[in-house]
Amino acid sequence: MSIKTLDILSKYYGYTSFRRGQESIINSIINKKDVLAIMPTGGGKSICYQVPALYLDGLTIVISPLISLMKDQVDALKAMGIEAEFINSSLSTSEYNEILDNIKDDKYKIIYVAPERLDSIDFIEIMRFKNISQVAIDEAHCVSQWGHDFRSSYKRIPYFIKSLGNIPIITAFTATASDEVREDILNILDLNEPDIYITGFDRENLSINIVKSSSKNRYLLDYIENHKNESGIIYAATRKEVESIYEGLLKRNVSVSKYHAGLSTEVRKKNQEDFINDDIKIMVATNAFGMGIDKPNIRWVVHYNMPQSIENYYQEIGRAGRDGEDSECTLLFAPGDIHTHKYLIEVGIENPNRKLVQYKKLQQMVDLVYSNMCYRKSILSYFGEDVENDCNNCSNCLNEGEITDKTLDAQKVISCIARMKRGYGVNMIVDVLRGSKNKKVLDLNFNTLSTYGIMKNYSSDDLKTFINTLVSHGFLDIVENPGHRGSFPTIALNEQSMKVIKKEIKVEFKEDKVTKSAYVENELYERLITLRSEIAKNEKIAPYMVFGDATLKNMASIYATSKDEMLSVSGVGEIKYERYGTLFENIINEYIIAKNIDKSTISNKKESAFKDSEYFEVNTDINLYNKLKELRLNISKVEGTLPYMVLPNNSLKEISGRYPLEEEQLNDIGGIGPVKINKYGKDIIEIVKKYVNENSIEVKWEEKKRLKLVLDGDSRKNDEITLDLLNQGIDIKDVCDEIEISLSTVLGYICDYVKENKEIKFKIDTKSLYSESDKDLILDACNKLGEEKIGAIKKELPEHIKYENIRAVILEKYINE
Ligand code: ADP
Repeated sequence: MSIKTLDILSKYYGYTSFRRGQESIINSIINKKDVLAIMPTGGGKSICYQVPALYLDGLTIVISPLISLMKDQVDALKAMGIEAEFINSSLSTSEYNEILDNIKDDKYKIIYVAPERLDSIDFIEIMRFKNISQVAIDEAHCVSQWGHDFRSSYKRIPYFIKSLGNIPIITAFTATASDEVREDILNILDLNEPDIYITGFDRENLSINIVKSSSKNRYLLDYIENHKNESGIIYAATRKEVESIYEGLLKRNVSVSKYHAGLSTEVRKKNQEDFINDDIKIMVATNAFGMGIDKPNIRWVVHYNMPQSIENYYQEIGRAGRDGEDSECTLLFAPGDIHTHKYLIEVGIENPNRKLVQYKKLQQMVDLVYSNMCYRKSILSYFGEDVENDCNNCSNCLNEGEITDKTLDAQKVISCIARMKRGYGVNMIVDVLRGSKNKKVLDLNFNTLSTYGIMKNYSSDDLKTFINTLVSHGFLDIVENPGHRGSFPTIALNEQSMKVIKKEIKVEFKEDKVTKSAYVENELYERLITLRSEIAKNEKIAPYMVFGDATLKNMASIYATSKDEMLSVSGVGEIKYERYGTLFENIINEYIIAKNIDKSTISNKKESAFKDSEYFEVNTDINLYNKLKELRLNISKVEGTLPYMVLPNNSLKEISGRYPLEEEQLNDIGGIGPVKINKYGKDIIEIVKKYVNENSIEVKWEEKKRLKLVLDGDSRKNDEITLDLLNQGIDIKDVCDEIEISLSTVLGYICDYVKENKEIKFKIDTKSLYSESDKDLILDACNKLGEEKIGAIKKELPEHIKYENIRAVILEKYINE
């Protein structure tokens, strides 16, 4: 066949390139291999089976668990001009019969089917004589009891496949990566020597924030105020909490709806549609909301409570930013969340083994919340993916917010708890510290303690929050008191508390800054959005099925008014252009005329109004940079480490170009967190101050916040710079030194690059990077665990085998292909 898959992608979807993993998966399928693909939510699974469906002769059956999801997918396919339909219980008998007739007449390329429909005799009889090219199983983890969405109807799939006249290609897709689930999918669905793909789990466009110390409601309200124009989801742990957040927001005239299992099917359906159609901006929901949500422009997800596991968390935040645009995920944590989940597990799960597994998962989630490491790195490592560099896009890496010393207040709380002797709950401790005349306080003679009433300056709520924050940071413990009816957790001292009392450690909290949306008002874009809503309403489809937000932004920024210009915009395919292109062109044209815009000057610039506000430009001051490098070298000698372990080059460059004159300002510099500021901040600032004085530089400090740093005119990421340097013929070791990354990271970058079918213009001698005797061990571990799980592979192998050895072996497979 001569049509290339890339042509299909551009003709129908209007995308110019495949995302990570898509092309290899598609190639396997069109080469008639069964496939299991594990990709993160929003990674682009649908295209992996839809493009082959269009490429191959015959019909593709997609088995999908959710009715709402099916309708959306089919509507989106139809909007692109692809013949598709769905079969599920929502159809009337006559609609169902009509579809069966159309299948007989080969009218469709793709049909979506609910698993419950697979054993309908009519359906099987018709399918038996059809040329079925592919059976694609979406959300394949539903087949496994270990998954969180087990559906017994998924077990019927293999019987259905056996009933078909020809043997189709079977493809299975999921975002759930655990080994048990993977084994179940392979065995129960009976895949035939499948190609297994585990694409990276990282969703780079999601920033991950965990907020521990503030009042949740206040934070939430500020957050919503700052993100007014954007779609977002607020997840809460219980229906009750959903209701109360919803009511609170409604009272404040926020555009909000709600979703949980206690609402009727009709209400849920209506609310979900309002959200998808952009008629309301915010959805407050329990985790019942989500699996069918394909809305691509969800800009933020706030977890009002901590979720029960990292899997749940990652899946839920995965719903943000499917369109690839930057999106924010914020988890508001309070120690009480742990208690809620323990209760939910106790009452919700009977099987003792499952209960145990759930407790373990909960603990891993709690560990993540308390962790001081890069959150993204921790999450990816949980999924078995090893990442060497911090992400610089999570709240632990960025550490925004001012640090305040709360040691004295913490000492007051701790000494009060010590004096109260037995364990009490937070409320009682608050009462004593605030000098309450409550009967219980007086009965227990707590009014005679020296700590009675010493924290009256705090409101009751603030003091509660403060004590909870001490718990979240490990300065106090929470003791569960199981077994007693109506028992409640009490607060206890631990080793850390004693250290605080002895002034051995400081208690420093970061004030939680509420981020501001990066949304930029743009009149033309708003007009295009209005047109999109009108079209969507007329055609009874969701707005994003007309064009995505990013596509409209792009149209607006290049003022696209011709077919060629429109087709150059990602997301505009030929069929959509024919349907809607001129409508959008007309609006843009009107705008250009009304505003007297000279397009010739703007289109050269390409990126206009939107981009300017996303970047923060800094130029290195080479003299100051050299002085800072000297300092770094001295520190590294004293500490006996490598200079880049002290601070990365780019941090020094950024400091040199921005001239921070106060330690606090270092929080706004990339790659330097509070620990390092504590250690080196004073010396750095001293050097900068001296330099600024000597050279009479007038400093006007500006906050970078979340803007992307463009250092010396270069906004490329490390992987791009690496490949550019290597392709220019620079030696691999020099590249490591230049960018200050390890050899193993470089090998990983090269591997990703080659996997995307890009050509490398340099030679690399992988054989010199591992010993022959280790190679088989490494390959065995890769086959067993999946080669993306570098962390797990490393653990499986003897200690002497390093990451770079593993990566070299993997890379060799691709170079020699
Ligand atoms: P998943 O099913 O893996 O959660 P989807 O298949 O719904 O993800 O894809 C998520 C979004 O990414 C969709 O809006 C889709 O159109 C978009 N997308 C997928 N592949 C590409 C691509 N190659 N280029 C641009 N956008 C893509």
